[in-house]
Amino acid sequence: MSQHATRPLPTTFDTPTAGEVLAAHLDVRLAAEPELQSRIGIIRDAFGGRIAFSSSLGVEDQAVLHAIADARADIDVFTLDTGRHFAETLETLDATERRYGRRIRLIAPAAEATEALVARDGVLGFRLSLENRKTCCDVRKVQPLRRALEGAAGWITGLRREQSAGRATVPFAAYDATLGLMKLNPIADWSQAAVEDYAARNEIPVNPLHAKGFPSIGCAPCTRAIEPGEDVRAGRWWWEQEDGKECGLHNRPKTVVSTNGATR
Ligand code: SF4
Repeated sequence: MSQHATRPLPTTFDTPTAGEVLAAHLDVRLAAEPELQSRIGIIRDAFGGRIAFSSSLGVEDQAVLHAIADARADIDVFTLDTGRHFAETLETLDATERRYGRRIRLIAPAAEATEALVARDGVLGFRLSLENRKTCCDVRKVQPLRRALEGAAGWITGLRREQSAGRATVPFAAYDATLGLMKLNPIADWSQAAVEDYAARNEIPVNPLHAKGFPSIGCAPCTRAIEPGEDVRAGRWWWEQEDGKECGLHNRPKTVVSTNGATR
């Protein structure tokens, strides 16, 4: 373990600068700890307030949930119910609740906004333009996510650096000044093989679509299986150009100020 890893963590971040300092400490601590369950413990112990975990029910998030359950960490687990999930995703949700003996909070989009969106663009109007698609993601995902994260001190995700070029520099911890919370990515450094191995060893419920060519699973009308050799996120909004393909849940990773003054 590095010298940095033994430093005590500040426990609050009243200003963006304090948040960035804490992020830098946490980033080092998490990088030095190889076990996922212990990383979850570090995250839980670093904050006095609510820590939320937004699960998409993909295999990465299932791995994180398993570690949360193993660590018996007091973490608020929720998933965004966009109204457009695959049946297999709902089956995975049910199997997960039964396996871990807990409810996963479903966050639904605002009814009025959803009805207005469909009235304006049609039921599959998100394929007509990038603007339409981003509006749909905003109504069904981004706004509900913001509501679910309101008041939270930390937000855990299953983002990994390997998932796409846009995620290649995802840190373990970064202060999100817009949301006013710490964004925590405890499996940022895991490979796809490491995730699959962890899921198999721990008999974690996994969405059967993963075995059918869907490494990344989103809403049913916006996700297709990929061909061998394609990018793992190539099946998401496949009709769009590569550089626009995020739904707005995850902003581009921000630069982290490290404890030795370096940035990345
Ligand atoms: S992924 Fe597709 S259906 Fe789901 S919120 Fe975004 S545009 Fe709408």
